[in-house]
Amino acid sequence: MYKRVLLKLSGEVLSGEGKKGIDYKMGEIIVDEIYQALQTNVKLGIVIGAGNLFRGEELSYVGSINADQIGMLGTVINSIYLLSALKKRGIGAVVLSKIIDLPSVETLTYDAIERAFEENKVVIFAGGTSNPLFTTDTAAALRAAEMNADLLVKGTKVDGVYSKDPKKYIDASRFERLTFEEAINLNLTVMDTAAFALCKSHSIPIIVMDFFTRGNFLKVLKGEQIGTLIFNK
Ligand code: UDP
Repeated sequence: MYKRVLLKLSGEVLSGEGKKGIDYKMGEIIVDEIYQALQTNVKLGIVIGAGNLFRGEELSYVGSINADQIGMLGTVINSIYLLSALKKRGIGAVVLSKIIDLPSVETLTYDAIERAFEENKVVIFAGGTSNPLFTTDTAAALRAAEMNADLLVKGTKVDGVYSKDPKKYIDASRFERLTFEEAINLNLTVMDTAAFALCKSHSIPIIVMDFFTRGNFLKVLKGEQIGTLIFNK
């Protein structure tokens, strides 16, 4: 059974694929899945992206570094939304960030992470890595290492890692397991190389899974084989 898990969700889980904004029904599904998963007593950290609001590349006409900062602020918006949705369901949670000073956000320190876990709270890491030129996948790998996670779960709408885009190619095949070397060499777009490299050097396995098949996240935490496992040989 996993003790500490970092869940990475892309911003689009809050809007629906290809849509923008926040759909409260999607928020409710996320909260339900988290609620179930917490019954295993896992210490859960969450990094949520901002693709439902804006991505740096979409706003790059304002200059890529400024666009990235706008993107990072988007992750704070989603994090505070998730905090509210979790609390509404009676789940203790805290948002930690190094880039923002708001009444609902606490400063990210290692003591704050440990305190929250001792109080059985979910820790939502907002603001990406705090630096432009990165992605929230890399932020997820970084925070996973900082919270001593024994697993990083990337929750998506696809049931694992494929050799090609399964929506475009009917002959795309799904991997059950991949080493970090294979994932990096295959140039997979499911996560960026920096995220794979960080997890590899800290021996944190990654599971890429379909977060929207109900009960899947709980199954992953119970050790059932769901999605694609990326691991150190
Ligand atoms: N971003 C950044 N630094 C970080 C994390 C994110 O500059 O450490 C910016 C970047 O512009 C990115 C945007 O925030 O495009 C939103 O993150 P991401 O695209 O990873 O969101 P997701 O695709 O997971 O919804």
